[in-house]
Amino acid sequence: MPRLIDDYNRIIDYIRISITDRCNLRCRYCVDGDFPFIPHTEVLTYEEIIRFVRICAPMGVKKVRLTGGEPLTRKGLPYLLKELAGIDGITDISLTTNAVLLADKIDELKEAGLKRINISLDTLRKDRFEWITCIDAFDSVINSIKKASYSGLKPIKINTVIIKGFNDDEILDFVRIARKWDHEIRFIEFMPFGDTSLWKSTDIITSKHTEDVIRSKFKLIPSLINGRGPAKVYNIEGGTGRIGFISPVSSHICAECNRIRLTARGMIRPCLFSDVEYDVKSLLRSGSDDAAIKAFIRDVVKVKPERKHEIGSIRKCQRTLRNIGG
Ligand code: SAM
Repeated sequence: MPRLIDDYNRIIDYIRISITDRCNLRCRYCVDGDFPFIPHTEVLTYEEIIRFVRICAPMGVKKVRLTGGEPLTRKGLPYLLKELAGIDGITDISLTTNAVLLADKIDELKEAGLKRINISLDTLRKDRFEWITCIDAFDSVINSIKKASYSGLKPIKINTVIIKGFNDDEILDFVRIARKWDHEIRFIEFMPFGDTSLWKSTDIITSKHTEDVIRSKFKLIPSLINGRGPAKVYNIEGGTGRIGFISPVSSHICAECNRIRLTARGMIRPCLFSDVEYDVKSLLRSGSDDAAIKAFIRDVVKVKPERKHEIGSIRKCQRTLRNIGG
């Protein structure tokens, strides 16, 4: 069966699925205070998500990442993982989580087929964690990271958004943690999403800046694991662990983009930076057969924007990453 290819010859083999818009944190750079949840009836059911992935797999989709909102706030996640892991052609299932609820769930998630995990952690200081997330859960996250390490899930990637004036003085501390814990710390540029007033184009800490700070103290060696995907990954000389840089704001990573997103509301979002989304839930709920849905997905992939931008001209997206699935 022909693969999913867009008009710029990019092969799509990766879907990021937001399984819920709900979250147990209130990160200031993601949401401004409290927010309304999508009614349960509007959120894709697990059966609908499974059907969507089953339809995509024969078109070459191999990789699925579950995200949110906070995916661990949705009940029955091991069931979803098990079903997705059983789909022919799906070889890689991962999860992005804030890890607040992870410690008690790791074993059953692994048993269900989870292969890898990304944990979001923007600061190593308890008081700062509480300020940025508005919740006192730092100890739970650290406990979960330790437990995930002992459980053998590998690699454990820690996603760290660098925000000027908040955590840019912790860059070297994170590198030390990568070495000490043998994890991969991925420094992510702060992106312009949602209605938070924290983002200002003039305040962007670029990956280049972060890398310069690190290179002033550590020698970085390009990692052999560099391949497809947005991160530029390095080993740290004389230690274990790795660091990676994800530069959606300052670099053109669009040419290598191999993914589409499925939102909790059942919309396909072909490009993270474009608010244009396509309603596949209506098809899933209106009795359309698999062939019709397959044709719809192909059409959506075809029109995936090329999306190159300059750092100064980047536009603010209306939706928050909580809605889209970060
Ligand atoms: N709740 C899960 C978590 O915290 O990992 C998954 C959803 S969260 C939206 C996914 C990732 O998006 C997190 O690593 C978060 O830091 C990141 N994120 C949210 N808003 C962002 C922004 N404006 N710029 C860069 N990353 C952002």
